[in-house]
Amino acid sequence: MHISVIGTGYVGLVTGACFAEFGVNVTCMDNDARRVEKLEKGEVPFFEPGITELVAKGIKEGRLSFTTDVVKAVDKALVIFIAVGTPPKSDGSADLSFVEEVGRGIATHMTGYKVIVTKSTVPVGTGERLREVIRKHQTKPINFDIVSNPEFLREGSAIEDFMRPNRVVLGADSDQAAAIMKDLYRPLYLLETPFVVTDVPTAEMIKYASNAFLAVKISFINEMATVCERVGADVQLVSKGMGLDHRIGGKFLHAGPGFGGSCFPKDLAALVQTGERVGYPFQIAGAAAKVNYEQHLRMVAKIREACGGLAGKTLGVLGLSFKPNTNDMREAPSLTILKELMKEGATVRAYDPVSMEEATKLIPGMIPCKETYDVAENADGLIIMTEWNQFRNLDFERLKQSMRQRLLLDLRNVYDSDRVTGHGFRHVSVGRPTRE
Ligand code: NAD
Repeated sequence: MHISVIGTGYVGLVTGACFAEFGVNVTCMDNDARRVEKLEKGEVPFFEPGITELVAKGIKEGRLSFTTDVVKAVDKALVIFIAVGTPPKSDGSADLSFVEEVGRGIATHMTGYKVIVTKSTVPVGTGERLREVIRKHQTKPINFDIVSNPEFLREGSAIEDFMRPNRVVLGADSDQAAAIMKDLYRPLYLLETPFVVTDVPTAEMIKYASNAFLAVKISFINEMATVCERVGADVQLVSKGMGLDHRIGGKFLHAGPGFGGSCFPKDLAALVQTGERVGYPFQIAGAAAKVNYEQHLRMVAKIREACGGLAGKTLGVLGLSFKPNTNDMREAPSLTILKELMKEGATVRAYDPVSMEEATKLIPGMIPCKETYDVAENADGLIIMTEWNQFRNLDFERLKQSMRQRLLLDLRNVYDSDRVTGHGFRHVSVGRPTRE
């Protein structure tokens, strides 16, 4: 089978490279010529473990190619995945202009039956809207089907998530399209991956329902953390005690600085907007977003209190990306937190293993450091912002030599307090008692 993937970001490139690995011929198309030029040479424009190797293998074996030409993307492909961005508009709704632009391109150039698949996260009703756009822009009436196949991969483990997903969701309104999609996903079918086959609007909703639920879990435990701090309980143990209940589950129950990334904030906003559009205020989704923003600010207050004010203080920050194993800075908690710290007069020295270039552009005034221990120079506090593995086993004796105050602000609850205090550091974490 020949397929194409339009948009070569985190989702599109992983989709294309993984299908090529499954033995499918894949054309990846992007309208960013520089990106395509790099990809043709096997250079991946973002950090994601394993993707460079997979892309190189696909190119070498002749199953993966790149183009900026929509005609090439549409021509041979039976299935066309749309994996372009769907960023939030100012009212929170998803901006579908890229999806629609792609729809118009496909409509103009299709010469035979196509299955057109939304892989991007798109609000309920987009499949129908896309169908209308394509019909309107076809030069002659050619049959096609729309499928919703939302993606659940996580940056940082995207390839594993794509190759071994918990489920594949296929929303299709025709048996023919559903059969073609199942055939394409056969390697996963053989692994006994559960398939949820629905109509298009239901598949579109599954994606938002899943992301909103995960975001609610995080905001729930973050609110719980604040209450724990005030009553002297330990949120980490509360979370463990809750998570062992199979009805609850322990994942996404870790207190921290609040979630970020390109998906949760934007998808919550879009779900709230969908609710408003249909006359039902989706209260829990709205509350999860509000709690999350406040959680970022609570971290600033926590740091201010621990340092006895921020003016004139120097803070070392470890980790800037919204989570480990990615260079993605979109909506990262570090953006809000660091800007607030600097606004109140603190000097911020920061290091991240892969996102320095992007972060330096996004956080003006931050002093970029070259390695972990560099951030600690004359610091009044060391903040763990993102839990990269390399920050899990710090050499406290070395830190002592360069820091002005022995204070660890562990916003990811990475450390055991006994270990930190054993080295003479004060340990401030999230939802746990501060230990001296
Ligand atoms: P991204 O910003 O990394 O990539 C989008 C790509 O689309 C860019 O390379 C851009 O140049 C290209 N593009 C835009 N308009 C185009 C056009 N008209 N023609 C061709 N290419 C075009 O985005 P992403 O993070 O891969 O996300 C894509 C979609 O997948 C979004 O809807 C997102 O919500 C969803 N999603 C993302 C993740 C994630 O972890 N990043 C996970 C699941 C779902």
